[in-house]
Amino acid sequence: MRHQGFGNLQKASLLGLGNGGPCAISAYIRRDFFENLHDDCVNSIGTMKAVIVILFLGVLLHQTYGALITRAQWGARAPTGTSKFSGVIPYVVIHHSVSPGVCSTTDACKTAMRSMQNYHMNTNGWADIGYSFAVGGDGNIYEGRGYNVVGAHAPGYNSQSIGLLLIGDFSKSNAPANMVTAAKNFISSAVSAGKLSSTYKLIGHRQALATECPGDKLYAQIKTWSRYTANP
Ligand SMILES: [Zn+2]
Repeated sequence: MRHQGFGNLQKASLLGLGNGGPCAISAYIRRDFFENLHDDCVNSIGTMKAVIVILFLGVLLHQTYGALITRAQWGARAPTGTSKFSGVIPYVVIHHSVSPGVCSTTDACKTAMRSMQNYHMNTNGWADIGYSFAVGGDGNIYEGRGYNVVGAHAPGYNSQSIGLLLIGDFSKSNAPANMVTAAKNFISSAVSAGKLSSTYKLIGHRQALATECPGDKLYAQIKTWSRYTANP
């Protein structure tokens, strides 16, 4: 059986800097220490420092959260039906896909999402891709059914969980560090957004029914994650 984000890179404008204007950096460096700096120049240097800090934070955010890739962005088909459930979500159920394997580029992960959705809809006859969200090997989070939509991933938990897929086969290989970080940060963001309970319980698919999912290696990994629950 096959199985099946976060934050955005900050953007900063460099307008008005480094263009040879009144505060060109080389001119600043040549100034005598005791010479008064032009006010505009001082302001520009302050702006430049702020821009560098924003860029630095943006890179950090990008490394730890990736981006949320919406259904429209990965080219999802419309579901044939949607059932909602209400309230703050109490569970996270972790899956691996087995196939497709780990995708290392965003284009490859989008292709993986489309292929899983096609399989779930065409072969399994489901209304949509089974999972709520997926984590790519590119560190991005891919929107599946989304929050508070009844899933098709773990009997007994489909109407009370986020079904979170890590795309890849983690039977014999650990999930890569960037995927684990993205998954953990996405879960934290779901709590911050008020979608997921702060006292949520995290389990592997095999705790819901007899399956090897999410793979022996990933299952061993999630046992060390926050709020993993041995007896849900
Ligand atoms: Zn599974």
